[in-house]
Amino acid sequence: MIPISRRDLLKFAGITAAGAVFSSNKTVEAAEPPKTQNFNFNGAQIPTLLRADVCVVGGGPSGTAAAVTAARNGASVVLIEQGTVLGGLQTQGLVYPAMPTRIFNSDTPYITDLNKRFAMHGINVSFTEEPQYKNGGDAREYTPELLAFIYDELCADYKVNVLYNATLIGANTAGGKISAAIVHTVEGLSKIEANIFIDATGDAALSRFIGIPSVRGSEYNGRNQKMSFRFEMGGVEEMKVYKFFVKKLKDGWCESKPPEFEFAKTTHTENFYYEGIQRGEVTKDDVAYIQAFTILGKPGTMSMNCPEVSPFLYSSTSALDRSKAIQQCRIMIRRLAHFFKKNIPGFKKAYISREASMLGVRESWRIRGKYYMTGEDYFNAQKFPDAVCRSAYPIDIHDEALNLEKPLAKGEFYEIPYRALITNEFSNLLVVGRCISANFAAQASVRIQPTCMSMGEAAGIAAAYGLKNNIAVNNIDWASIPNRSYVSAG
Ligand SMILES: Cc1cc2nc3c(=O)[nH]c(=O)nc-3n(C[C@H](O)[C@H](O)[C@H](O)COP(=O)(O)OP(=O)(O)OC[C@H]3O[C@@H](n4cnc5c(N)ncnc54)[C@H](O)[C@@H]3O)c2cc1C
Repeated sequence: MIPISRRDLLKFAGITAAGAVFSSNKTVEAAEPPKTQNFNFNGAQIPTLLRADVCVVGGGPSGTAAAVTAARNGASVVLIEQGTVLGGLQTQGLVYPAMPTRIFNSDTPYITDLNKRFAMHGINVSFTEEPQYKNGGDAREYTPELLAFIYDELCADYKVNVLYNATLIGANTAGGKISAAIVHTVEGLSKIEANIFIDATGDAALSRFIGIPSVRGSEYNGRNQKMSFRFEMGGVEEMKVYKFFVKKLKDGWCESKPPEFEFAKTTHTENFYYEGIQRGEVTKDDVAYIQAFTILGKPGTMSMNCPEVSPFLYSSTSALDRSKAIQQCRIMIRRLAHFFKKNIPGFKKAYISREASMLGVRESWRIRGKYYMTGEDYFNAQKFPDAVCRSAYPIDIHDEALNLEKPLAKGEFYEIPYRALITNEFSNLLVVGRCISANFAAQASVRIQPTCMSMGEAAGIAAAYGLKNNIAVNNIDWASIPNRSYVSAG
């Protein structure tokens, strides 16, 4: 168990660069709107590939939860995913572990069921990293490979029609409704027709393509959150690594021992990385942010939450920057791997065992929906009558200039309202995950995986309910849904 080993706690302890403390009342109205033009496919002769009640675009944690939940509630569902695996950043991005919501009883039924699935595979997903937040902790035992398998299994069980290698490129719309998603597949351009659409692309791709107002980056400096490109190293002797950091460098902030252990760049280890820079083995940028986790299901393998690239040089809302960031990170990964092998006992025989197949984008575009969440909602521990889930996860901004160091009081939490998932403009659109209607600060808290899953679950419930009762999803009174996943505390 690791009682305090959280990335944000590195910040709270002043371990990362101390930046300006973000004050909630500095929040301004809107971040920079995107400059891209929308392309309308209305009138184009495009064949229909599939029809369903619900079409979910994006198979990350939020989209998969939405698709499975809508199907469990009786809807026929198509799930469009541009990659070859569900899980989004969890699997393609090698993001591990799921962060805790830091609040008691935050698990919505989908998450509880997902844990049971793990148990069926002999894995006891423990939510005990921070025991006081039981049912709101980490799902540390997932490996990207097992999670991918479980997601496929869930979709098969509930008859979700998954369409891999399909990239959304636009949509047909008329009278404030979406009638079809336009996708590029091996067959060329095709239509996916549906009654309800759920945008779970992380980048608000469907929403932007149909002209939903969106914003991007920080309201203070226009920059997006920093991106990372994650990798894993195999052949690691974890006990030797532990002894090096804890016994030799006297770095005691990670309180657990292997098999559950992590190391990071902290005040205790800063000099170790600095010396690497002095020797020319790594650059300042390579080691600007270092964090590495053992993976419980993969002995001898560590998951690297690095390298991170500068938001001054690479923006997550530029296609070209994203490509260049990946190329730059590959170079950084090689330097880091070499540095670890040479200087950390336990890494002598280590090797790069896996690189992400998806760039680690923490934040890009967010929609402006019926309700726009702000940092104030976090600080005020705001409750809503149409709440779909709760969290107390801190505002985690990977930008020294906007560093935030204020967790909520113990036991406090905020809620996410259903209205942050719907828009004024389109009656059959729901938006879930890291691109919901939230400002830069609010997004920095809501983006963690359990919260994304719970939002997706809520969207799935609402979609099925809207279909059954013939109510437009942007007009649903969430509180009146009898079997909703979460009952507001407010
Ligand atoms: C480096 C990094 C570290 C993080 N660390 C943690 C952590 O430790 N714990 C934690 O809980 N959270 C962490 N997060 C946050 C969390 O992983 C994400 O916020 C979360 O995965 C977002 O889920 P999502 O479903 O909204 O989007 P994503 O996970 O981004 O999934 C979006 C999916 O949509 C697909 N897609 C996108 N566009 C299209 C299109 N046009 N057509 C078809 N498919 C499309 C993508 O391929 C992807 O599968 C981290 C994020 C990053 C980047």
